[in-house]
Amino acid sequence: MNSVARPAFSLALLTAAALAVVACGRADGEANADAAQPALTSYPRFDGSAAYQLVRRQVRFGPRIPGSEGHRAMAAWVREHLAERADTLILQRFDHVTTAGDTLPLVNFLARFRPDAAPSLLLLAHWDTRPVSDQARNLLDREKPVPGANDGASGTAILLELASMMRDSPPPRGVDLLLVDGEDYGDFTADRDVFLGSRYFAGNLPEGLEPEFGVLLDMVGDRDLDLYVEGYSNSYAPEIVDRVWNIAHNMGFGDVFHRSVGTSVRDDHIPLNEVGIPTINVIDFYDYPYWHTPDDTPDKVSASSLEVVGAVMTRLIYRGR
Ligand SMILES: [Zn+2]
Repeated sequence: MNSVARPAFSLALLTAAALAVVACGRADGEANADAAQPALTSYPRFDGSAAYQLVRRQVRFGPRIPGSEGHRAMAAWVREHLAERADTLILQRFDHVTTAGDTLPLVNFLARFRPDAAPSLLLLAHWDTRPVSDQARNLLDREKPVPGANDGASGTAILLELASMMRDSPPPRGVDLLLVDGEDYGDFTADRDVFLGSRYFAGNLPEGLEPEFGVLLDMVGDRDLDLYVEGYSNSYAPEIVDRVWNIAHNMGFGDVFHRSVGTSVRDDHIPLNEVGIPTINVIDFYDYPYWHTPDDTPDKVSASSLEVVGAVMTRLIYRGR
């Protein structure tokens, strides 16, 4: 990747390994550590209503803008949620000094499930929200923060719900859930103060993390969900696009997962691809008029949309294809 002012990051990498409290399947003596056959024919059902409640829960914290009270409160809650479910939880704390001179305290969460079982899969989403509604029609609204029900909370909710699922039903492969901070802070046009967490993560990959591929979930909660193939994903990792889209079509979700290539969206998958982790972006960047406005609220998101995407991720985790 390019020189994204990485020297400006203070390298306060804090690797706190919080141990899972809750049982994992191996605890009952079942010898399923052999990863040569990472596919299960029966697997749990993803609960879209539970994921929707997790969207609402996040929005209740208020805007999750780096440095804000909502951001601090949500970070504490996420940490607890993941520590109770993952086999290992790694926190990456770092500061970023913005072009305006502000110091942002940021934290990425990496929740690892069966980290010893290869091949592993990396699922990610951003958990922060945007400080300004620059896409609002009304000029007065543009100073307002984005609630981020879809842009931030939707992908995060699916990952948090998958964490509960994998606590109860350990996956047949290693699965890493990554919640990155600081995606949506700054100016995308000028490439300033954006993708902070994914860039930091790509530059500071935790030891032992060698995912086969990654899937980014961003804006996956729209009630009227339309997922076209994202352009950069199609260039960087077409075989992963095929794998995920084939799963969706096999499950009967061809009306949501469209085969045609849509917009190219610079997003958190770019830094990962640049360090050699093929990563696709599952994103609905089509016809969501609430994007980067004060109207990106939970009523624009539906449990059924979250359930479709969550179910596809569930099958990817447990069956592989
Ligand atoms: Zn955004």
